[in-house]
Amino acid sequence: MSHLFKTLVGLSGGGQVLCRTLRQSPRTLTRTLNTSNKRDGEPSSAEASEEVASYRPSTAQAPTMLDIGTRSIFNEDHDIFRTSARKFFNEEVLPYHSQWEKDGNISRECWEKAGEQGLLGTDTPADHGGIGGDFMDASIVMEEQSYVNCSGPGFALHSQIVMPYISHYGTQEQIDKFLPDMTAGLKIGAIAMTEPGAGSDLQGVRTIARKDGDDWILNGSKTFITNGYMSDVVIVVAVTNPDAKTRAHGISLFLVEEGMPGFRKGRKLEKMGMKAQDTSELFFEDVRLPPSALIGKENHGFYYLMNELPQERLLIGIMSCANCEWQFEETRKYLCSRKAFGKTLSNLQTIQHKLAEMKTNICVGRAFTDQCLELHTAGKLDGSMASMNKYWMSDMQNNIGYECVQLHGGWGYMWEYPICKSYVDAKVQTIYGGSNEIMKELISRQIISDKRV
Ligand SMILES: Cc1cc2nc3c(=O)[nH]c(=O)nc-3n(C[C@H](O)[C@H](O)[C@H](O)COP(=O)(O)OP(=O)(O)OC[C@H]3O[C@@H](n4cnc5c(N)ncnc54)[C@H](O)[C@@H]3O)c2cc1C
Repeated sequence: MSHLFKTLVGLSGGGQVLCRTLRQSPRTLTRTLNTSNKRDGEPSSAEASEEVASYRPSTAQAPTMLDIGTRSIFNEDHDIFRTSARKFFNEEVLPYHSQWEKDGNISRECWEKAGEQGLLGTDTPADHGGIGGDFMDASIVMEEQSYVNCSGPGFALHSQIVMPYISHYGTQEQIDKFLPDMTAGLKIGAIAMTEPGAGSDLQGVRTIARKDGDDWILNGSKTFITNGYMSDVVIVVAVTNPDAKTRAHGISLFLVEEGMPGFRKGRKLEKMGMKAQDTSELFFEDVRLPPSALIGKENHGFYYLMNELPQERLLIGIMSCANCEWQFEETRKYLCSRKAFGKTLSNLQTIQHKLAEMKTNICVGRAFTDQCLELHTAGKLDGSMASMNKYWMSDMQNNIGYECVQLHGGWGYMWEYPICKSYVDAKVQTIYGGSNEIMKELISRQIISDKRV
């Protein structure tokens, strides 16, 4: 955390708020108080009330699922950070999102403001140019974005998918060149794995980088690339040894920069949802890459991808879970105000039972997601659990979205109603980051290979 403080001292505006926040020490649950009338070993009434006062209710117990100050995995410092992130998304994202949906991308200004607020590269180490927090801090940014139901900013992909490849496998030169600017929102990152003919089966990629002296010559194309249209730096997955015994042994990762001759971006793709998030095709025609563009070791790309993909899956689970909570609260609010048959809809027992079912499902999902979050922050989450979380939570987001639109009636089908947007946004969560069918493959592989069975 100390790195985080130092970095935030250098940030302007909201960064200062975060700095003050994170400098405070976490409040202990049972602070010892001097009291005169208690027996040894017995909690005093003051201690007991202190414990009650500092108890963090679970999501199931809180007045609303979006309340700050809940969930035992967080502390008061997290709450202050969350308050600041919430303010950012409500003031700098929500009011502009409808326009960005028409534009097909968010503004550069928004990226830079997020950088100023310390919301990018939150868990990248400070000595690598990041903010220096941990994954728990990063998850707060993702949850707060989901709580405004604005899918436009591709912040999580930039910060928790692209930046870790550079931070974990990059050279000092690559770290210095890219990470500070990415933390500041001055450079936007993307990752290009998928091709028109290869999605789930990554070993089917055909984009190829051939050696030419010390340089590489890159040829091929990618599609469905998030942040692709606005990207300043793209991690490109390419074959570097077509004769390797399997494709997995002959794949490398390269840093391709905007403006390199031969690198061209296609149109912004028109999607079912996520309309403010730019998704693009990318084309590489004889792009000359210096040796410094290679990430890590030649032909080790597939292993780096396998190491990093569980975090990508967890991000989707985290955002799906938070969006379920938002969908629930949005729908509850609607049902408590919408009148039919002389009363509000929330007075009808069938509607109440639907809400009870949804709340129970979401709270069960929340408990598993928080467990995964805590394990991942401690470096102990395995790929199978991350896959379970992605598959379960993204399916749930779609199911909850379906019910919530139904509960909104015709208004739920209108684009001006946020619940409508969340329903179409949810669909892709089961497809990208490894489809849910692939998640089940990965989960079952671990089950079958378990030596204890
Ligand atoms: C909005 C959006 C953003 C994206 N962002 C990015 C990005 O930033 N970078 C990037 O590289 N990619 C990105 N993708 C691509 C995404 O990861 C792929 O679409 C996804 O991996 C599925 O690949 P595919 O589309 O080729 O489908 P396919 O692989 O052709 O799969 C089609 C269907 O067959 C199923 N299937 C495939 N193999 C199996 C199997 N072995 N067993 C059972 N069922 C199987 C799949 O689950 C799916 O239902 C994005 C996609 C979208 C839609």
